[in-house]
Amino acid sequence: MNLLVTGAAGFIGSAYVRMLLAEPAGPDRIARVTVLDKLTYAGTLDNLDLTDPRLTFVQGDICDTAVVGTLMAGADQVVHFAAESHVDRSIASADTFVHTNVTGTQTLLDAALRHGVERFVHVSTDEVYGSTEVGSNTEDDPLSPNSPYAASKAASDLVALSYHRTYGMDVRVTRCCNNYGPRQFPEKVVPLFITRLLDGGDVPLYGDGLHVRDWLHVEDHCRGVELVRGLGRAGEIYNISGGTELSNRTLTERLLAACGEDWGRVRHVPDRKGHDRRYSICDDKARTELGYRPRRSFETGLTETVDWYRHNRSWWEPLQRRLSA
Ligand code: NAD
Repeated sequence: MNLLVTGAAGFIGSAYVRMLLAEPAGPDRIARVTVLDKLTYAGTLDNLDLTDPRLTFVQGDICDTAVVGTLMAGADQVVHFAAESHVDRSIASADTFVHTNVTGTQTLLDAALRHGVERFVHVSTDEVYGSTEVGSNTEDDPLSPNSPYAASKAASDLVALSYHRTYGMDVRVTRCCNNYGPRQFPEKVVPLFITRLLDGGDVPLYGDGLHVRDWLHVEDHCRGVELVRGLGRAGEIYNISGGTELSNRTLTERLLAACGEDWGRVRHVPDRKGHDRRYSICDDKARTELGYRPRRSFETGLTETVDWYRHNRSWWEPLQRRLSA
């Protein structure tokens, strides 16, 4: 089975590919993994083991019909991670978000349809449901995205599902909460705070710090995606949650403690525009139907993540320089 994975020189997609290549081939026997990634500021080849004979890397844009068509002709299944993924950047400028996340997804779907690809897993986010003050969103809830990032992901989810309803394509959508773990680009809150603390700097906390997010280790997310690919049903959406809801204030306290620092390192900054108060999803469907369960506790995962950044400066310092360039 030949699997095309988009966006796998970034954080989650590369963890997914490393997981696939580390485990013995499953029942559907993945013979070859082809990664398509544009290598934007967020992607780095350091995330992949290019010496693995089962892995082929192609640098290219998911909006490029020619490249996508060629790769789709040789693919049996697709797992689609590629996206512009940083909310703050989408607030500063939304155009690349709509182009990559919506047009790019549609370009992939069109080529997959044309070449008779048997399965297409579209990786999305809990942010499409918008802010949820009480309770947790299920897959049937209406979409109410607020940031341009979330709106572009919601649009791409609907386009993906339309290919199932209109053409009968086997499309599956995953919606996951906030991920953390090694190799996350140092602009996202967890690695941003860790790298700033390791460098002796301060950490910027938005507004009152009471915005709540649900946290999941990246490897648990990847296992969830793989369960959906292997055991999920066509045309279905699966929420993937971590079950660790924390306010940004509490997350900051945990990160300070893990780095041996105190609240004196926190700098309060004005709130993000349109900042969603809380995301919360119910993943009973993935748990009962697919047997999904997160394996890593947040405490263990966070300690390991801090250690990873402590011992892998050669990975993140060049990326940090990209941010300040
Ligand atoms: P990331 O920013 O680390 O990686 C994205 C990758 O996509 C990069 O390697 C980048 O080079 C590539 N890319 C961007 N535009 C491209 C284009 N036009 N053509 C080809 N490649 C392109 O993102 P991530 O955190 O790994 O997120 C992966 C996916 O998971 C995204 O779809 C995101 O919406 C979703 N997701 C992320 C989280 C999270 O907490 N990070 C949570 C839920 C869902």
